[in-house]
Amino acid sequence: MPDRSRAIETDVLVVGAGPGGSAAAYHLARHGLDVTVLERSAFPREKVCGDGLTPRSVRALERMGVDTADPGFARVVGLRVYSRRTRIELPWPKLRGFPDHGLVRTRADLDHLLAERARRAGARILERTEALAPILEDGWVRGVLARPADEREAEPFEVRARVVVAADGAPSKLGVQAGVVRDERRPLGIAARRYYRIDRHPGPWFESWLDLREGGTILPGYGWLFPLPDGTVNVGAGLLNTFRGFRDVSAQRLFAAFVAMLPPEWGISEETALGPVRSGPLPMGGSRRPAAVPGMLLVGDAAGLVNPFNGEGIAYALESGEVAAELVHEALARRRPAIAQRYPAVLRERYAPYFWYGTWFARAIGRPSIMRASTRYLLPNRPVMRFAMRVLANLTDGRDGDAQDRLIAALERLAPMG
Ligand SMILES: Cc1cc2nc3c(=O)[nH]c(=O)nc-3n(C[C@H](O)[C@H](O)[C@H](O)COP(=O)(O)OP(=O)(O)OC[C@H]3O[C@@H](n4cnc5c(N)ncnc54)[C@H](O)[C@@H]3O)c2cc1C
Repeated sequence: MPDRSRAIETDVLVVGAGPGGSAAAYHLARHGLDVTVLERSAFPREKVCGDGLTPRSVRALERMGVDTADPGFARVVGLRVYSRRTRIELPWPKLRGFPDHGLVRTRADLDHLLAERARRAGARILERTEALAPILEDGWVRGVLARPADEREAEPFEVRARVVVAADGAPSKLGVQAGVVRDERRPLGIAARRYYRIDRHPGPWFESWLDLREGGTILPGYGWLFPLPDGTVNVGAGLLNTFRGFRDVSAQRLFAAFVAMLPPEWGISEETALGPVRSGPLPMGGSRRPAAVPGMLLVGDAAGLVNPFNGEGIAYALESGEVAAELVHEALARRRPAIAQRYPAVLRERYAPYFWYGTWFARAIGRPSIMRASTRYLLPNRPVMRFAMRVLANLTDGRDGDAQDRLIAALERLAPMG
């Protein structure tokens, strides 16, 4: 029997206080709704991530009123790409509607900050509280059964809501329990990262390496080194399941090969490491379907919204959280629950063409010959790479005839979306 003494009734229940959940809670609370967030851990908490924020993420943070000039953020002016033959620096473009810089901040810090933004906007955030299962009635999700995360023996209690937002990350147990499935045609990434304290400060760039090798063997994947404001660095490596040899290479092995490949002057070693190597999945391209079931909307990784072009998920978690909040607010204000159920269609309209070609790109670079040809012929070509950088980071300024939009339209004519 549920514990009635702890039962909660709320307008909107958000499960998970990562970027997706906090963005949804912030925008809902700003509309004056009664919002309850359940988060099974306590802040500050770690999240396995590269901690990199592109201009698209920075824009979404600014929409939550985050002071991005705060010294807790390291500012990044662009991307520096290394391959065996080339090193190229690509500053972020100056575009209408986007900041001209990226940022780096540990997720332990960033997620705490975002949860505080939601709390200050009026959301009730219950830390150390885990959602166990959805309450399903007549095919609608009406809330969840929850329990204090550190009281395994305690009776669960009900949290009932007019709408639920599932922001419970890549595994999204809540989504699975409500019938959401993985679309196997969309790519899945895996990546591993570790922090280091090194003497050499790399400068304000996202450093990234192609051509990863183990001895003489080429490994599928890429590596990164992102600078944090306190002089530490986030070093990581990742690969996609579209890469040939994906099943034979774990993220941890790729990471070890990448670290061994880095020039000794970087000082990346066991002695300079802080904490263990940690790894996690990146569900990409809208790979969880449907993105809403009656009474519940999925945001961020729960909906599989990582960008297949570059492995970025924070921007899409923040944006989908805001989109979900706007629809839920309208649905509740107008007492028309069906409005919230338009969410998958709104997501499709926003991301489907881009994610479709991202999926296509992920398959193409999974072929070693295409990857080799790209690093040999495209990487040294600065104008091509400048354009590629805009496409990979999804920075389109929305103007008629914008080059990225034209490219997507041309691709649509050549290879229509299936
Ligand atoms: C190694 C690695 C590197 C990455 N690097 C980058 C990068 O540099 N830049 C970038 O943009 N993206 C990166 N990503 C992707 C990014 O981390 C995710 O896309 C992003 O965290 C998604 O945010 P979210 O809010 O959807 O989910 P999460 O950040 O996973 O948050 C989910 C939250 O829900 C809570 N939760 C889960 N289940 C429950 C439950 N049952 N009850 C209560 N609470 C629950 C969790 O504790 C967590 O706080 C990386 C991912 C990996 C694995």
